[in-house]
Amino acid sequence: MNPEASELQRLQRNLTQVKDRIQTACAASHRHGNSVALLAVSKTFPAHDVALMAQAGQTDFGENYVQEGIEKIASLKQQGLSGLTWHFIGPLQSNKTRPVAENFDWVHTVDREKIAQRLAEQRPAGLAPLNICLQVKLSTEESKSGAAPQDVEALAALVASLPQLKLRGLMTLPEPGKEAEEFEQLKALFDKMKSNYPGMDTLSMGMSADLETAIAHGSTCVRIGSALFGART
Ligand SMILES: *Cc1c(COP(=O)(O)O)cnc(C)c1O
Repeated sequence: MNPEASELQRLQRNLTQVKDRIQTACAASHRHGNSVALLAVSKTFPAHDVALMAQAGQTDFGENYVQEGIEKIASLKQQGLSGLTWHFIGPLQSNKTRPVAENFDWVHTVDREKIAQRLAEQRPAGLAPLNICLQVKLSTEESKSGAAPQDVEALAALVASLPQLKLRGLMTLPEPGKEAEEFEQLKALFDKMKSNYPGMDTLSMGMSADLETAIAHGSTCVRIGSALFGART
C-alpha cells in the first residue's frame, strides 16, 4: 500500500475508535449518541493530515495557535477543501484577535470583555456571527486562563449584546486530578445560565484522556487531538 493510503487508514481507524468511545460513554450515561460533537484538534499536525481526516468524514477542526491555524485554513482553501468548520481553542491575546475574527467560525476561549469587544469589531460584516464559548477557570492553577466563575454572567451579557457574536456556551480545561469535580461545576453553571440565554447549547469539555468523564458530566463537545492524530512531539 502506498504511504498516502496507509496514513488515511491510520487516521480512519483512530477516528472510528474515538467515535466508538463517544458512543460507549453516551450509552453509559443514557445519552443520545449524537448529543456529543467531535472537534478534531489538529494543532502541530500538517494541513495534509487535516485533509485526510476530512476525507475520512471529519468536518470540525480545532487550532491553538493563531499563525499556524490561519496558514492551515488558507492552505486547505487553496486545495479546494471547503465546508470545514474551524474552532479557535487556544489562549488569545488582544493583538491577535483580527485574524481569528476573520478566519475562524468559533472561539472557545473568550475570557474577558476586551477580547469579546475586539472580536465583534473585527468580525467581517459578510460573515455569519462568530460562535463563542466562554472559557471558565475553575482550577486554582496559576497557568490556566479563563474567566472567574463570578465574572461569567457579565461576560455572557456582553457577548449576547454584540450582533457579530453568538453566545453558544462554556468551556473549561480542568486541573489534572480534578476533572470530574470541575466538569460537574461547569455543567451546573451552564444549566443555570441556559434559562437566561436559551441559545447556549455547547458545553465544551473533554480531551483524549478524559472524554468519558466529560461526557458523564454533560459535555456536548469533546476536543480530541492525540487520540485522532497521534502523539504530539
Ligand atoms: C491540545 C488541546 C486539546 C486536545 O488535547 P489531546 O489531549 O491531544 O486530546 C483540547 N483542548 C485544548 C484547549 C487543547 O489545547
